[in-house]
Amino acid sequence: MASAAASSCSSISMMFLTHSCASTSSTAHRLLPPGCLRRRLHCHPLQRGPTYLRCLTFHSSAAAPSLPHVVFPHASLTTGTNTKVIDGKAVSKQIRDEITAEVSRMKEAIGVIPGLAVILVGDRKDSATYVRNKKKACESVGINSLEVHLAEDSTEEEVLKHISGYNDDPSVHGILVQLPLPSHMNEQNVLNAVRIEKDVDGFHPLNIGRLAMRGREPLFVPCTPKGCIELLHRHGISIKGKRAVVIGRSNIVGMPAALLLQREDATVTVVHSRTNNPEEIIKQADIIISAVGQPNMVRGSWIKTGAVIIDVGINPVEDPNSPRGYRLVGDVCYEEAVEVASAVTPVPGGVGPMTIAMLLQNTLISAKRMHNFE
Ligand code: NAP
Repeated sequence: MASAAASSCSSISMMFLTHSCASTSSTAHRLLPPGCLRRRLHCHPLQRGPTYLRCLTFHSSAAAPSLPHVVFPHASLTTGTNTKVIDGKAVSKQIRDEITAEVSRMKEAIGVIPGLAVILVGDRKDSATYVRNKKKACESVGINSLEVHLAEDSTEEEVLKHISGYNDDPSVHGILVQLPLPSHMNEQNVLNAVRIEKDVDGFHPLNIGRLAMRGREPLFVPCTPKGCIELLHRHGISIKGKRAVVIGRSNIVGMPAALLLQREDATVTVVHSRTNNPEEIIKQADIIISAVGQPNMVRGSWIKTGAVIIDVGINPVEDPNSPRGYRLVGDVCYEEAVEVASAVTPVPGGVGPMTIAMLLQNTLISAKRMHNFE
């Protein structure tokens, strides 16, 4: 029974991987270390493992230690091995509360409400869910949300026309084009059309270029990597002078995360699918940010004792005990990581909630900047 389940898990895991990586890294599977999938399956047993249960227990019962900057009731919990679990849910809740207060102060002082416009093209269910969640998040902090939903067969010109309308609309302070776009559209053309002052996703080449250059300031920083750094800051984890390894080099996570760490005076190495001896390089890191999309790829033996781990990966793996038939795990083998790391983000509940919080923060920053509101 166990082995039958294991083999079906292997095929389902690969199915999910193929699906989630289809539009991005085709080299990923080919370059996985031999036996990696087998080891990964061992790392995340089909049943809910002890660490998963342990994590839930801590959420309900452990006392949180004081943090140097702020205290989160559940933000930093201690595992049996003194590893802090960095609770992104609690941190993002605190950030949202701060945003709510600022939005209301701005409205009272100058009568302006920040506005976020989202453009969704096509019928992808996952994209529709993301957009719905963003809309809900806006409502929860008092930000106005506008949305246009275009049919799958819309033309690029139609999308550009809507972007142009939002570019000129003074009630809109942030514009977000939900990706991926249908394949007949040129993503670069579309993203480049967003006014840099409203590019709250931070994907405009000018914003990324400024992020990469010394002495230049981007107007916006991409939300997921910004959320990773915010988690480190809010937990008083110093970055300066540290050796950091970013695993993954995508435009939306890995590459900007590496640039951000470098701006914070870390010494940064980027590991990707063509890197030789990734384990050796990762083992030297004081801080690891992983954005790969491979379940449980980073094993405990790859981690230096006391390292801090920010796991961006969101990977579905089979779980017959879950009503959905699967559960989400990160790129890092969590149950092994807690034995060696000094702090680690769980998946889910780590970086994920931070991404939307950073989008709301970028929209607020934009509105304040446009209206010269301090
Ligand atoms: P992506 O565009 O597919 O990029 C993956 C990166 O990982 C690529 O740079 C690839 O290298 C590298 N890679 C693949 N296999 C590798 C291996 N075996 N060893 C070392 N590097 C490897 O993915 P992404 O959009 O950055 O997303 C990465 C993960 O983060 C996914 O699980 C995604 O769901 C998750 N994510 C989470 C959030 C959030 O809010 N928490 C937001 C965005 C993404 P090459 O460049 O050489 O191909």
